[in-house]
Amino acid sequence: MTSSAPGDRRGAVVIEDDLDIRNLVCAVLEQGGFVVSSATTGREGVDVIRQQHPMVVTLDIGLPDIDGYEVLRRIRNTTDCYVIVLSGHSDEMDILTALQAGADDYVVKPFRPRELRARIDAMLRRPRIGQNAQHPPARPAAPVPPDDEPVKSANVLRNGGITVDGDARIASCAGVELPLTKTEFNLLYELMQGNGAVRTKEELVRVSRGGDYRGYNFVSRTDERAIEVHIANLRQKLARVDGGPELITTVRGVGFRVVPRGTD
Ligand code: CA
Repeated sequence: MTSSAPGDRRGAVVIEDDLDIRNLVCAVLEQGGFVVSSATTGREGVDVIRQQHPMVVTLDIGLPDIDGYEVLRRIRNTTDCYVIVLSGHSDEMDILTALQAGADDYVVKPFRPRELRARIDAMLRRPRIGQNAQHPPARPAAPVPPDDEPVKSANVLRNGGITVDGDARIASCAGVELPLTKTEFNLLYELMQGNGAVRTKEELVRVSRGGDYRGYNFVSRTDERAIEVHIANLRQKLARVDGGPELITTVRGVGFRVVPRGTD
């Protein structure tokens, strides 16, 4: 439907087998300025995503061939695009399974177009993290350890071997880039900025939504569980490259914090 080269336009892919919902979602995205492609099956969706490298994907879970979870598994190794699951199941487990598989956000069907629009608006604000930061970045938690990479940006947070560059949106551990989704990056950035301070799950839900959420400020239990899943995914990715003690600790009943590390 579109032949835009990878990354040169704001592309979106809608994977949805229900015609009415597909038309609705396409219309919402087009109004948001996206060049929209659509797919009616999971396999077709995977192909379109691989060809077009979209910025955002909306993903139905119940598809005629492979389900949305499997689509996520197939695309997550090759893209960090922003994935919103549109689930017909309000069951928390379905939503959490999708988030575990790498979705960023979810909307339960039936939904109002303006709710989906609000989620997309929030997503579009998020890449600005750091660039227009209201607060100066936190001081490094510890004296900056010797590092091969020169610091190119003022908006770089460090904690032991973990480096998060808010402008470049790159997180790395001991020089190895972490393959984070946008949501995982935002959560890690927020926790690193806290420099040891606890962030409540509710605060982190708002971070994952991009702060200002235009009338959708209610934070449900499922939203908080979603944060737990995102943090668990983030911890897994950190653990693969980080030999140190766990960076992100749970403050029971409250939220999460990053443990400042020394150079030892
Ligand atoms: Ca469906």
